Amino acid sequence: MNKAGAPADQLDIAMRLIRQRGGRCTRPRRVVLEALLDAGGQLRTAEELFAISRRSDPEITESTVYRTLTLLEDLGLASHVHLGHGPSHWYLKAARARWYLTCSACDAVIDTDAAVFDHLVDDIAARTGFKVDAGHFAVTGTCAACST
Ligand SMILES: [Zn+2]
Ligand SMILES: [Zn+2]
Repeated sequence: MNKAGAPADQLDIAMRLIRQRGGRCTRPRRVVLEALLDAGGQLRTAEELFAISRRSDPEITESTVYRTLTLLEDLGLASHVHLGHGPSHWYLKAARARWYLTCSACDAVIDTDAAVFDHLVDDIAARTGFKVDAGHFAVTGTCAACST
């Protein structure tokens, strides 16, 4: 996502998507999207995004950032993941959801395409009718370096 073009282009694309999906392009939405783009694909907590957002809009409140993130998630432009016991982490959602793996030995966070789990998700749906919300929680385990 961060290599798809200049951040300004990506912001325009994201704002266009908001309009296409029936949302309005308000200033807080632009500012929070900018903060997510600024992360360059890295995960950010809502608190971190609030701090970044305040640089371009000193008036923005923490609750506005939270509300905007939820709205961007409803519009399919952002997503969040629970890596552990701390606050949730947010990211700009590309075409597909991501699935995060965390190492319980060294706390490394590995980012993988949720498609890796498609077979498992389909299998669970076929067997039980349960629809897995892929990527909402990180999968814990041991990374390659810690396994050796
Ligand atoms: Zn590790
Ligand atoms: Zn959640």
